Amino acid sequence: MAEPFVLDGKALAKKMEAELAERAKKVIAKTGRVPVLATILVGDNPASVTYVRMKGNACKRVGIDSRKVELSGETTTEELIRVIEALNADDDVCGILLQHPVPAQIDEQACFNAIALEKDVDGVNTASFGAMTMHLDAYKSATPLSIMSILEYYGIEIAGKEAVVIGRSPILGKPVAMLLLNADATVTICHSRTKNLPEIVRRADIVVAAVGKPKFVKAEWVKDGAVLVDAGYNPGNIGDIDLEQAAPKSSAYTPVPGGVGPMTIVSLMRQTIQSAEKKAFGTICE
Ligand code: NAP
Repeated sequence: MAEPFVLDGKALAKKMEAELAERAKKVIAKTGRVPVLATILVGDNPASVTYVRMKGNACKRVGIDSRKVELSGETTTEELIRVIEALNADDDVCGILLQHPVPAQIDEQACFNAIALEKDVDGVNTASFGAMTMHLDAYKSATPLSIMSILEYYGIEIAGKEAVVIGRSPILGKPVAMLLLNADATVTICHSRTKNLPEIVRRADIVVAAVGKPKFVKAEWVKDGAVLVDAGYNPGNIGDIDLEQAAPKSSAYTPVPGGVGPMTIVSLMRQTIQSAEKKAFGTICE
């Protein structure tokens, strides 16, 4: 069998970031103002602290400002919604990112839904999800958008293919399934109550693993020549697919690390620039 093609998310992320930096310059030249992405961190979950820092660094590389809002781990839903509403009303802010997960006492989805749609650059508002599902203009959840960007850039055919998504989380499994459906795949969504998972995965031309369990998808489940998209990111840089064993059977796969992961922050930057462009030029410039 031919060597599988590596769907290199890291290389694509680098290329896209350079393009976004040029677009940011044009926005600044037109408006005389630097677009701002507001990031909200509630509490001090170490992984969340790292993700917010990485997003701030990405803003610097692209040439936009990040405004870090850091709130105590005791913050209530009402307090957080008030902070979001103030950012909604702030004319300098193009995008708002509320870092997931928030502490347990907060109703996370209520807070996501408080983000104004035109600033929901991480695609977390239920109304953004609904619009995206209906194939309307909407910001998309960042990781699903990254997966679609990778498939599109590397010319993976989607229309008419059997796609199996393992995982149905609101930020990943469910939205990526909708995007694949809108791209005319025949989509099956699997979850913890799915029966005969290996059998279902064996049907797939495209497998998207979004489970959160290291090496969960086994090589024996994978059809020869399938495209493997591993969105998983478990401690030790381990994905949700046993890529060592399964990748040689595939026609193409996203590596971990260096596949979906590096693209996620770029998708957030992309949608922030899109928001800034809409404000500056009345249209997206891509
Ligand atoms: P999540 O919210 O925990 O969702 C996991 C999903 O997997 C759930 O829908 C769950 O089903 C399903 N599942 C669990 N056990 C299963 C089983 N035995 N068989 C079939 N399905 C099973 O996780 P998530 O936030 O979607 O993240 C998934 C993975 O993606 C994680 O590794 C995470 O680190 C990674 N991730 C990566 C990025 C990135 O930027 N690359 C971004 C976000 C997440 P139920 O709904 O029935 O519980």
